[in-house]
Amino acid sequence: MKIIAADVIVTSPDRNFVTLKLTTDDGLTGLGDATLNGRELSVVAYLREHVVPLLIGIDAHRIEDTWQFLYRSAYWRRGPVTMAAIAAVDVALWDIKAKAAGMPLYQLLGGASRTGLLAYGHASGKSNEELFDSVREHQEQGYRAIRVQTGVPGLKSIYGIASNATFEANTGVRYDHEPAQRGARPAEEDWDTRSYLRHVPTVFEAVRNEFGPELPLLHDGHHRMTPIQAAKLGKSLEPYDLFWLEDVTPAENPEALRLVRQHTTTPLAIGEIFNTVWDYQQIIREQLIDYVRSAVTHTGGITHLKKILDYASQYQIKSGMHGPTDISPVGMAAAMHLGLAIHNFGIQEYMRHGDKTNAVFQQSFTWTDGMLHPGDKPGIGVDLDVDEAGRYPYETAYLPYNRLADGTVHDW
Ligand SMILES: [Mg+2]
Repeated sequence: MKIIAADVIVTSPDRNFVTLKLTTDDGLTGLGDATLNGRELSVVAYLREHVVPLLIGIDAHRIEDTWQFLYRSAYWRRGPVTMAAIAAVDVALWDIKAKAAGMPLYQLLGGASRTGLLAYGHASGKSNEELFDSVREHQEQGYRAIRVQTGVPGLKSIYGIASNATFEANTGVRYDHEPAQRGARPAEEDWDTRSYLRHVPTVFEAVRNEFGPELPLLHDGHHRMTPIQAAKLGKSLEPYDLFWLEDVTPAENPEALRLVRQHTTTPLAIGEIFNTVWDYQQIIREQLIDYVRSAVTHTGGITHLKKILDYASQYQIKSGMHGPTDISPVGMAAAMHLGLAIHNFGIQEYMRHGDKTNAVFQQSFTWTDGMLHPGDKPGIGVDLDVDEAGRYPYETAYLPYNRLADGTVHDW
């Protein structure tokens, strides 16, 4: 079962996606997601110029060996571009192997450990009234766990608040939340940590008063706080019993979480911009987090993320895989198969893709009573319509960035 073709497909149905398609000499195909939001073409170049030529002629069954070859032979290891490229190859090979076996991928990963995956969606609003409407809308869509992001008085635009205007102007597609914007330069947002720290606990108090104690609530700090600010937020949110508080401090310095952990019992999640098990080594060993936020797409694929999650399981740390709309349907399917199979599944982030995206990527997952299931088609259960993909060429898009009131660039 040798690889005879490796095609990198770039398409922008509602947003940019990069997909690797591998074909074997016995006619099987496999898909892998290589989308790196705002830096998509760097992974395209890495794949086309450096990886694809190495894949032709290799045995598609040798998944672990191919992973180690691509990781170690580069010498320049890790990093989001490299690890997204390796992830795409890895998932495409798992897709092929599962099709060859005639099984859905989760069966090859050990079989189902549960009947479905609890998923959370993104509610947001500039005011509490808008936020409550958004929470109700998500409950009507079936969500049983909800991330809450809110506007902060005095700040114009802020991470996590659904931007209808952007999408109505560009595509007419309503995303729950999609920060990347098409255009030649990143949009500028503003930020004030003290205002944020004062405001957020009042919002969670209001949400608990409105929706009661049962609903699992999550919140994302998006790496903007110092350790002591993060500790203060975790403490001030304790009465509202969060499922998790995410990305409180910049991810480059994992040991910052030690101080946060000393001060609060609010569960912590981090890792969406981590790439390897080495990024997690200290914070898993010291039990500084409760949830691993990595996506299959950005962490070297199923082969490597499963190793991270197996390591985490020794410390009662669970999965909380990244799943916003810049994880393509291929990346989401891979996450669902892995999440169904592992024992230490926690929750899956799930935002709906738009109609154009769903026409490019035909999917077999199900969404029932707030639970995802990858379906039982052999492989990962996603097909890519190449003609449909060809209708939507790449468009330059950037994630926004932040400045403080005095003009200083701040973490976004
Ligand atoms: Mg996050």
